[in-house]
Amino acid sequence: MPTQSRRRRLVALVAALTFVLPGAGRAASVSEPTIELWRLDCGSFITKGLTDSCYLIRHEDTWMLWDAGLGAELRGKRSTQKNGSVVTVDTTLVEQLARLGLQPAQIGIAALSHVHGDHVGQAASFPSARLLVGRADWTMLTASSPSAGLEPARLASWIDGKAMKELIDGDKDVFGDGTVMMLAMPGHTPGHHVLLVRLRDTGPVLLTGDLYYAAAQRARREVPVHVHDAAVTRASFRAFEALAEATGATVIVQHERADIGKLPGFPQPAR
Ligand SMILES: [Zn+2]
Repeated sequence: MPTQSRRRRLVALVAALTFVLPGAGRAASVSEPTIELWRLDCGSFITKGLTDSCYLIRHEDTWMLWDAGLGAELRGKRSTQKNGSVVTVDTTLVEQLARLGLQPAQIGIAALSHVHGDHVGQAASFPSARLLVGRADWTMLTASSPSAGLEPARLASWIDGKAMKELIDGDKDVFGDGTVMMLAMPGHTPGHHVLLVRLRDTGPVLLTGDLYYAAAQRARREVPVHVHDAAVTRASFRAFEALAEATGATVIVQHERADIGKLPGFPQPAR
C-alpha cells in the first residue's frame, strides 16, 4: 500500500475508533457490549527467552480466540526445532478454557495474526470455530509447496472446507461495532494482522501478533532478519506506532514475557 493511502487509512481508522469509544460521541442510550479479555499460555521458547501468548475474548455471548500457539503435542515435553530453538507447552488451550467452564465447541471465532507454526498449533482443537485469517497468509499456507516451517495440516478442517473460514483483505471489524478489530499490518508475513480490543475499564489494548517479538526489539524498531518484506514491515511499524499513540492503547508484544503482566493473571479477565 502506498504511504499516502496508508496514512489516509490510519486517519480514517482513528476517527472511526474515536466515534465508537465509550463516552465519545456515543448516544447514552446505546448500551455498550460486554467485552472481556484473557491472556492464555500457549507455550515457551526456552532458549530464546520468549513466551507464546494466545488470547480469549468474550464479546457478549460470542467467544473468540486470537492465535492458537504451539502444538498441544509439546505439552510437558521439550522439543528442539530445526533452528536449534527449544520449545515447550505447559498447558493446552483446551485445559485453560476448561478452567473457565468452556468447551472447545463454544469457541465461535478463531482469528489468527498470521499462519506461522507457533500461532496455529492448537487450532485443530476448535473445528467448529469460524477461522479469520489474512487472505495473503492463507494463499501462502495453501500454496502447492508451502515454505519451510508452515504447517497446513494444522488447519486441515478449514482447508478441506469442513469448517467455516473468512479470508481478510485489509482490516476487519470483527463484531461490526469497532470493539474488536483485526488491523492489517503486513511485513512479517504478507497477510499479518494485529488486534485492537477496546475494553470499558482497561481502555484500548493492542496485541502485536509478530509485528514485534520483543519489547527491546520494538524500542529499536529493529526489523528481524527473517521477515517476508522488510520495507513493508517498517511501514507497518510506523502505522502501528501512530495508532498506539493516537489511541493511547496498552501495547502487548505477544512473545514478550515482561508483557504478560500487562493483563490480569489467568483466570482473571481484563474488562
Ligand atoms: Zn510467533
